[in-house]
Amino acid sequence: MTKPLRLIFVVDGLQKRSINSTDTPCLHRLQTEGTECTTAVTVVPALTRPAAAALATACLPGATGIIGNHVYAPGHGVASTGSVTDLNVLAAIYGAVVDVPTIGAFLAERGHRMAVIGTGSAGCTHLLYPDASTSGGTVVRASASADEPLTTPATLQARIVHAIGPRPAATGETASLDLLTWASDVAATLMVPDPATALLVFWSGEPDSAQHHHGIDHPLTRRAIRAADQALQRLLDAASQHGRPIDVIVTSDHGARTTGATARPDLDAYRDLGPAATSLAFVPNDGALLVYRTADQVPVDDLARWALDQAWAGTVYADDDRTSPVIPLATAGCKHPTRSPDLLVTMGSIATDRGPATWNTATVSAEQDPTTYALKATHGTSHRDDLEIPLILHGPSFRSATRSEIPAGLVDVGATMAYLVTGETAPHWDGRVLHETLRLAPGRTDPPAPTVTAGTVAHTDMGVAYVGDSTYLLGVPAC
Ligand SMILES: [Zn+2]
Repeated sequence: MTKPLRLIFVVDGLQKRSINSTDTPCLHRLQTEGTECTTAVTVVPALTRPAAAALATACLPGATGIIGNHVYAPGHGVASTGSVTDLNVLAAIYGAVVDVPTIGAFLAERGHRMAVIGTGSAGCTHLLYPDASTSGGTVVRASASADEPLTTPATLQARIVHAIGPRPAATGETASLDLLTWASDVAATLMVPDPATALLVFWSGEPDSAQHHHGIDHPLTRRAIRAADQALQRLLDAASQHGRPIDVIVTSDHGARTTGATARPDLDAYRDLGPAATSLAFVPNDGALLVYRTADQVPVDDLARWALDQAWAGTVYADDDRTSPVIPLATAGCKHPTRSPDLLVTMGSIATDRGPATWNTATVSAEQDPTTYALKATHGTSHRDDLEIPLILHGPSFRSATRSEIPAGLVDVGATMAYLVTGETAPHWDGRVLHETLRLAPGRTDPPAPTVTAGTVAHTDMGVAYVGDSTYLLGVPAC
């Protein structure tokens, strides 16, 4: 029998409510025919690169060390985890890009190959398999700039150009969609048919980019969603043509919200903290703000109280449960021994004059202004809109026409696929195997259904669910 293919297909920024039979016929079919986890969430903070690292390792940001899209690195300053160059700086400081073994390496040790291709930032794609070069994996960073490697191994680039042609131009109105088409051609032509590919991870950078620029539900955002759905169909067709049974998990790395006109954090307000404020590093991350103490002048208690006083602030996370209603970083899965910020402040809800803050069709004609978040899609807050993700599992290994209400997370996706490929799990994973989605295989007995308890984090309106040993922050209700 032809070796089965496992596919993880990530649609950056896709919201569950965007799935329908018109824009996403392929995804809609998988949702109807396969298993849908109806209560699924990404990691905190709800940002692309913390999610990518969590997907790649089955571990939460507190274990991977990738806690923001932009982070503060001692002796360096602000580093972008979207840049391979900056990720190498982090690796030089901390000893590795991520602090836990990757799913790619886990598979390689057991004789299985993982291939990754992504049209998001080169850093995002790199995070999906940072140690590919030492474990025999394949990575195509479709958005790589001139000083970043396009492929691992380097020799793959010439094969791609020969088989598919060079990358399309990086400018023009449809540049990101052209790149998506090119990437799906590469995956469908070179990766899917290769029997050595046991697990393929395909990351579509759209619709996140369109959403940030144009807003949720804008026609150009819907066009980007359709393009991602077509790329998914292209990969399924290629598997079918080559007779490979395919298990696919489709998900996204975060949701999105439309922000109000004054949702921008007022960073000047930190001067309230007095002269010691100069010993703080503020690193904005869309709907989240990471605050690092570069010296001990400002006690974390003072910092947390300051954050809670800010009109733009929503849920606040800090090192410890010291100032109610602050949520401990550890509870949110983002307490890392050396890489955590001292404070994570997520943006609150501010109503707009153009419809509900959480969902409107306001369009903005100007290009995104980096100094404001007004009326654009953003994410990184602690609202359900940002934390909720679609999670759809389809193929011979998964149950048919099933809706599972047991909470699940992005961190479980890599664990589940690695388990399907190898039959094994790793004790350090934070993610669990989603047994409730699996079809019973001959000779295997289902583990008992996990115990599920749900409530809110103490003194806050943050929803939380416990499934066995796993904790899922479900988000605060939207206003
Ligand atoms: Zn994203």
